[in-house]
Amino acid sequence: MARTFKTLDDMGDIAGKRVLVREDLNVPMADGAVTDDTRLRAAVPTVAELADKGARVLVLAHFGRPKGQRNPEMSLALVTRPFEQVLGRPVRFIDDEGAAEAIATLKDGDVAIIENTRFDPGEEKNEAGTVERLAALGDLYVNDAFSAAHRAHASTEGLAHKLPAFAGRQMEAELDALGKALGAPEHPVAAVVGGAKVSTKLDVLKHLVSRVDHLIIGGGMANTFLAARGVDVGKSLAEHDLTGTAEEIFDAAEAAGCTIHLPYDVVVAKEFRPNPETRTINVHEVAPDEMILDIGPAATEALGDVLKNCRTLVWNGPLGAFETPPFDTATMSLARTVAALTREGSLVSVAGGGDTVAALNQARVAGDMTFVSTAGGAFLEWMEGKELPGVKALSA
Ligand code: ADP
Ligand code: MG
Repeated sequence: MARTFKTLDDMGDIAGKRVLVREDLNVPMADGAVTDDTRLRAAVPTVAELADKGARVLVLAHFGRPKGQRNPEMSLALVTRPFEQVLGRPVRFIDDEGAAEAIATLKDGDVAIIENTRFDPGEEKNEAGTVERLAALGDLYVNDAFSAAHRAHASTEGLAHKLPAFAGRQMEAELDALGKALGAPEHPVAAVVGGAKVSTKLDVLKHLVSRVDHLIIGGGMANTFLAARGVDVGKSLAEHDLTGTAEEIFDAAEAAGCTIHLPYDVVVAKEFRPNPETRTINVHEVAPDEMILDIGPAATEALGDVLKNCRTLVWNGPLGAFETPPFDTATMSLARTVAALTREGSLVSVAGGGDTVAALNQARVAGDMTFVSTAGGAFLEWMEGKELPGVKALSA
C-alpha cells in the first residue's frame, strides 16, 4: 500500500540538524519511580536512530494534565533519568524558559527532553504563537506519538505544518499495521469487539460493519445485543435503552453483508467475585438473579472456527470479566487461538485497547500478535474510521 507520509528514511543528511521529536512519555509513576516503562522503551528506536545520524535530538512530550500551568509534579525533569536509563545514553533536560540558549550548547548526537508541552496553555489550543515558539527551536519535526495523534495540539499537529514533517519508527509501524488491518486488508476480515459497554463503542461498531466480513460481539456488549433480540439477560450488565441502536447495527450489517456473531452459550453467576458458583448454559436459560460474566465454551469454539477461515483480525475488548476468575476463560482461549493462527501465518492480527492489552499480557501472547497497539484513545478513534489530526498533518 502506498504511504502518504514520509519516514526517517526520507530525511536526508541530518547531521547537525535540530530535530524536534514528539514522543509519548506520559508514563505512570509512584513514589518518584516509573511503574511501567513501555512508552519509554517505545521511544528508543527513533531517538537513538536520529542521534546516531548526528542530529541534535529534542524530545517534545506532555506529562499529566497540568492544564496550561507550570506544575513541578508534572515536570518532565522527573522522566529524564528514567528515559536516560532506558535509552542507554545521556539525556539532558531543558526547561522551556531559555530553551533556545540551552539548545545552542548541544552537540551533534546529543539528546534532550524539553519541558512538558502542556505547561503552555497554547499547546492544547494549537495556538499559532505556541507553534511558532516550538518551531523556532528546531529545523525538522518528527511525530512518533500515534497515541497522541487524535489530538490536534501544537506539538502533535501544528508543528507538522511549520517544519518539514516525518513519521518516527513507532508511528510508522503503527500506521503500517493499522493500514494492513483495515485499510486494504486481506479478506475475510473479522473483528472481535468486547468490553463492558456498547455505548462507548457505538461508532466503532457502526464503522466495522461496513468494513469487515464477520463481527463477533462478546463481553458485556453482547448482553445488550442479546437483549435486543429478546433474550432475558437477568441481572447482566446491559444497556436496555440501546435496543433500537442494536437493531440499527443488525440492519446495517445485513445491508453490508457482514455476519454478526453473538454467543449462544454463556457462563453465569449470582455474585460477581472470584470463583463463585457458576453455571454454563444456553443464553435462553439465564435466571432473573443471574449475571452473564463470560461467553461459553461452545461460543468460544465457534469463534475460533470463524477465525480459522479469516485472514485478518482486529480485536478490541475482552470477551468476559477477565480480571475475575474464572471469567477470563474465553478471553484467554481466544488470545491463545489468535496467537497460534498468527504464528502459523494464516492470520494478520491487530489488537488494541487498555484492557485488551492487559488481557493479552495476562495470556502471555502479546508478542505473538502481528501488532498490538498501546494507543488507547487514538486506537479506538482509528477503529471508528476517524481521520486522526496528527496523522493527517503528516500526510499534508
Ligand atoms: P478496552 O480497554 O480493551 O477497550 P473495555 O474498557 O471496553 O476494553 O472493556 C473492558 C472491561 O469490560 C473489563 O473490565 C471487563 O471486566 C469488562 N467486561 C467484559 N465482559 C463483561 C461482562 N460480561 N460483564 C461485566 N463486565 C464485563
Ligand atoms: Mg478499558
